Amino acid sequence: MKIAKIIVDIPLMQTDKPFTYQIPKELSALTEVGMRVHVPFGAGNRLVQGIIVEILEHLISSKATSGLKKIAELLDVTPVLTKEQLWLADEMRHHVFSYKISCLKAMLPSLLNSNYDKLFQDEKGNQWYSSKLSDEEKLEFTKRAARHELSVTYLAKSKENRKVEKFISVLDHEKLALFEVKKAAKKRDEFKRFLLRHFGEKIPVKNLAFSHAQVKFFIDQGLIEIKEVEISRTRALFDAVSADKAKKLNEEQKKAFDQIISSVERPYLLEGITGSGKTEVYLHVIAHFLALGKTALLLVPEISLTPQMSERFIARFGDQVAIMHSGLSDGEKYDEWRKIKMQKARVVVGARSAIFAPVDQIGVIIIDEEHETSYKQDSSPRYHARDIALLRAKWHHAALVLGSATPSLESRARAMKGNYQLLRLNQRANEAAVLPEVKIVDMRSQINDQAANFSQLLLEKIREKLARNEQVILMLNKRGYSSFVMCRECGFVVQCPNCDISLTLHMDTRTLNCHYCGHVQGIPQRCPNCQAKKIRYYGSGTQKVQEELEQLMPEVKILRMDVDTTRTKHAHEKILKKFGDGEADILLGTQMIAKGLDFPNVTLVGVINADTGLNLPDFRASERSFELLMQVSGRAGRAEKKGEVLIQTFNPEHYAIKLAKEQNYERFYEAEMKFRKNLSYPPYYFTVQVMISHKDESIAIQKAYEIADLIKRQLSEKAKILGPTPRPIARTHNLFHYQILVKYRFETQLEAALNEVLELTQLKENKELRVIIDSEPQNF
Ligand code: ADP
Ligand code: ZN
Repeated sequence: MKIAKIIVDIPLMQTDKPFTYQIPKELSALTEVGMRVHVPFGAGNRLVQGIIVEILEHLISSKATSGLKKIAELLDVTPVLTKEQLWLADEMRHHVFSYKISCLKAMLPSLLNSNYDKLFQDEKGNQWYSSKLSDEEKLEFTKRAARHELSVTYLAKSKENRKVEKFISVLDHEKLALFEVKKAAKKRDEFKRFLLRHFGEKIPVKNLAFSHAQVKFFIDQGLIEIKEVEISRTRALFDAVSADKAKKLNEEQKKAFDQIISSVERPYLLEGITGSGKTEVYLHVIAHFLALGKTALLLVPEISLTPQMSERFIARFGDQVAIMHSGLSDGEKYDEWRKIKMQKARVVVGARSAIFAPVDQIGVIIIDEEHETSYKQDSSPRYHARDIALLRAKWHHAALVLGSATPSLESRARAMKGNYQLLRLNQRANEAAVLPEVKIVDMRSQINDQAANFSQLLLEKIREKLARNEQVILMLNKRGYSSFVMCRECGFVVQCPNCDISLTLHMDTRTLNCHYCGHVQGIPQRCPNCQAKKIRYYGSGTQKVQEELEQLMPEVKILRMDVDTTRTKHAHEKILKKFGDGEADILLGTQMIAKGLDFPNVTLVGVINADTGLNLPDFRASERSFELLMQVSGRAGRAEKKGEVLIQTFNPEHYAIKLAKEQNYERFYEAEMKFRKNLSYPPYYFTVQVMISHKDESIAIQKAYEIADLIKRQLSEKAKILGPTPRPIARTHNLFHYQILVKYRFETQLEAALNEVLELTQLKENKELRVIIDSEPQNF
């Protein structure tokens, strides 16, 4: 008799303890660690999804196991999680303070995870979640059904079965069509016409989930042919890209390359100004490891923002590349995951979550723009891709490379201590490209009523460049039209009813939107407070800036890139392609346009307002602003034509802005380290933030103090505990938020204390309490 230890996925009751189940005889030979299962759970024996983490084979008496429940069904034919991933989940737990199941789920494409979306009560009043299958999931099951007896039994048993049987799925490269044939026999002519219309004479029907009799009928009639081909929903990436050959590395690049391939002992910090050829070094390093029969993992901040980057990798490595980013549908994500799992892809390029990609035999992991905050996940499990990369590199004996023009202070400090090895690229690789000239414009002395966002100098420069048929990039790190709507009479600012934050005006939809909870409402004609008809718009955003510019220069073509213009699929790529093809003169956008873009014809970068990020209540505000200014400056003068950068600011004396003008990372690092030291912030101290939320403010406060006490009791005198204090935005989504910040260097009891806090949330009395533990938080 075999038994399995299974981590179950139940939203209301979380625990890291695996549950023990019998493996039924008929499944015995098929069951493996890392597979997903359905198991009966709780008094009602509701089926829940779980993951097998261990199988015990020997010497277990049937007496001891006879009381155990049995696995109801296997959901996989081969394990979806590897031994490495199961190990990784255990290691991750020390960093993330959320349950193991959430770590495991983070490693799987969402199609494979249970999707609990309905809460209902059984006869006894217990609350349960039921899982509802999406159409794509159904397809997933029908796919299996075509392939495996085992899953056919699943279909026959499942409640969803009847629904599934109504569908016939026809898959094409591009589209996934679901055709409903309710009374298949009666409608067969219509069905035939449909198939012919879409697929011509030879019908590549691949997935069928009809009754045997129906299938037989279709085959007999010559309506369908059963084929088993797996077709990817993602585009054949290589088709659109022309191949590219490796460039000969210059001396600096060669030195870095030689170091990286020589040892896996320490991670490498590759520090090089924008355009110094870091990416070319990555490409060489990856080629080196591929030649050794290994694989490579490259992380980029958010790949849908940098199509140029993925193109370079596809151009070099062709179809071996898998791309994983947030712009893919769940089905496409699943297909890329399959491609990697089947070892058809040996280079994975992706955003944060791609760090979990099931590549085996990793030779090198590269994190480009390692300072980017998007590498930290801001929902559970709150992991940092860098920490996961360190673990995976260790498991695979792989090289780890962190690249940046402006390394995070944490990484740079580690390099200074010798924990990382520092490699530097000081020259732009393209010899003709010199660093752009940067000027600061003091906006305090600029008064311009028609165009409040533009200094005279910036307008002149824009006109000058456009007259020479060159292009301009303008950045304003604020989307929307105006920051807020205020009554001139009484000063009333329209706020979100759910959140302590003013609403943002969106002129294209003529609405006021909350950027936190998504609340949308119309623009009031009269002040809701004093009834005066004096509602005015204040502040500025990308939409407003576009409007000003269009009034000043009606003949100029502007493309805007922000969250609002890039909601649709491939919208990023389309905007960037248009700009690259010269269809517009100016690209205006939020920080989205600051990173990784390489347009040789751009000779001017204008920062509309450098102060948007400086005044945030976040100790990293200066670091972020400095880094953003350095990045966006790097977009100018990438080729032969010299670039210029204008930074408009109301704080021209601020060191982050002054040093960004000088493009001097070294001096910024020194200044910022002093500030961090004085205030005991990272990298001198580690930080953990505990956020406590409740819809009742007094309970939120009371619990926050309880938790702060619990932590204090277990830590040494040296730890600094700040708070509880209200969060900078004290209420969102109708919840009140409080926070505790722990700053520490070495605390042996911290992990235990935080796990205790986590356990508190599982108590019945704390059902409505929300506690988030965030180790090394990136956003305050
Ligand atoms: P980074 O990633 O540091 O911004 P890139 O690798 O994108 O730098 O290089 C900047 C530009 O210089 C690119 O157009 C790239 O093709 C070119 N380049 C990089 N390395 C070399 C080299 N060794 N020889 C010639 N051109 C190079
Ligand atoms: Zn809101």
